[in-house]
Amino acid sequence: MVEPGALRVDIDRAARAHGLRFPVDPSSGSFCTIGGMVAANAAGAHSLRYGATRTWVRALRAVFDDGAVADVRRGEAAPRQVSAVDRFLRQGHAAIVAGEEMLRARHWGVHKESSGYATAAYARSYDLVDLLVGSEGTLALFVGVELALTDAAGATSSVLGAFATLEDAVAAAAGAREAGAAACELLDRTFLDVARSGGDTLPVPAEAEAVLLAEVEGDSRLDAAVAARAIAALFHGAAALAVEVAVDERTEVELWALRHAASPILARLDPSLRSMQFIEDAAVPPQRLAEYVRGVRNSLSRSGVRGVIFGHAGDAHMHVNPLIDVTAPDWRQRVERLLDEVTTLVAGLGGTLTGEHGDGRLRTPLLDRVWSEAARDRFALVKRCFDPMGIFNPGVKVPVGGERALNDIKYDPALPPLPDAAREVLATVERERAYARSRLEMLREAGSTREERERDEVDGMRHGETLSVARRSRPRG
Ligand SMILES: Cc1cc2nc3c(=O)[nH]c(=O)nc-3n(C[C@H](O)[C@H](O)[C@H](O)COP(=O)(O)OP(=O)(O)OC[C@H]3O[C@@H](n4cnc5c(N)ncnc54)[C@H](O)[C@@H]3O)c2cc1C
Repeated sequence: MVEPGALRVDIDRAARAHGLRFPVDPSSGSFCTIGGMVAANAAGAHSLRYGATRTWVRALRAVFDDGAVADVRRGEAAPRQVSAVDRFLRQGHAAIVAGEEMLRARHWGVHKESSGYATAAYARSYDLVDLLVGSEGTLALFVGVELALTDAAGATSSVLGAFATLEDAVAAAAGAREAGAAACELLDRTFLDVARSGGDTLPVPAEAEAVLLAEVEGDSRLDAAVAARAIAALFHGAAALAVEVAVDERTEVELWALRHAASPILARLDPSLRSMQFIEDAAVPPQRLAEYVRGVRNSLSRSGVRGVIFGHAGDAHMHVNPLIDVTAPDWRQRVERLLDEVTTLVAGLGGTLTGEHGDGRLRTPLLDRVWSEAARDRFALVKRCFDPMGIFNPGVKVPVGGERALNDIKYDPALPPLPDAAREVLATVERERAYARSRLEMLREAGSTREERERDEVDGMRHGETLSVARRSRPRG
């Protein structure tokens, strides 16, 4: 068993030392923990082929509401000696299984789901592991995780395709999925525009509405290259404007650099623009993906908000980063309107509000718009069985009443300001994607650097006017 605070990157590194890997790869992999991944049912680009975290969890060691600790293992009897588990088996199990037989709590056709509780998966397997994974710390705390691993890929190749319409790109992504691509990411025109605005010349025709980046795996370089050429032919068949194939590591890295281009550029844009992920990561049935992307674009433009849309096209699961000018007097109304419109859009398309990040306190008040009443009743029943006193993450997954999706927003200039040093550290984390670093450590370092600077200045004054004149007259640049 691995402890919950182990970083995903370290788990994967340990597996690779044995020719294996942990194939769930969120972009946050270098700093996110396995406890958080299990709790959110996290996923990543390669979930197209390997599924989300749930698939890979064999057993959980959990602390329940009364402090009891027990292992819950796939394929074995649930630990009935734990009162929370016993309550669930007596009061929850039958109602949930019967309810799911009538109407499954799932969004039909959606490939990735981190919203609500996985009552549908539980009703199929009767495995408590399925229910606990994705529960966002609301049912029990995980103190140990046993994972399944798989063989490391022998070799990979990648293909970039640029498309003149979203529909062409979506059709090509569906084809790539069927052809066995391990990953298939979409960069929407909004993303390409921002990447270009950073001064980058993109390896993509100016008229491209969307770009797909696909990765294939093979036992050998030759196998991977053959698979890549098949995807390239498929992209051509889907009317791609341009297709590039990368069969060696260096060229693959170059192709995928485009996918990583936006975040640093976003961080460098106008400082009054904040990239706020409040729409975050909806997933829709694949045949509705173009409608979803176009609908989000329209909502952004109606609200006068710039934003970038990108994500996991093979799973019809998209990230949206709206860029909000918090100095505009009506910024909050724009954010609220945008969230409202996109929630209506997702509900209308039969999608979920979150494919991998989880509901959190942001989406829980919106669940009544995307889940049926019967499904929400089942979620509430699960919560009552495991956590009757409401001590685990109250207000997440099951509303406690009176919550709003958008309460305090950390970027709100009307909130009391953070101390300068703390603000500077948080800005550095965002700018440099230093999420893996300890904020407190950075704060301490910033403090000691400031002290050193002050000491230098005092020393400078002690050395007299000559030194300070010399310093002042040093050329700039
Ligand atoms: C830049 C960036 C990129 C990201 N990219 C992705 C991505 O590609 N795919 C993806 O799925 N997610 C992504 N995320 C979201 C997030 O990082 C992941 O979902 C991650 O798995 C959460 O792990 P964490 O350690 O950050 O958990 P936290 O954020 O600390 O916690 C997440 C949830 O899990 C609960 N939790 C944490 N530990 C435990 C435990 N031991 N027992 C019970 N509950 C627990 C917490 O209460 C919370 O509700 C991204 C986030 C950022 C900031």
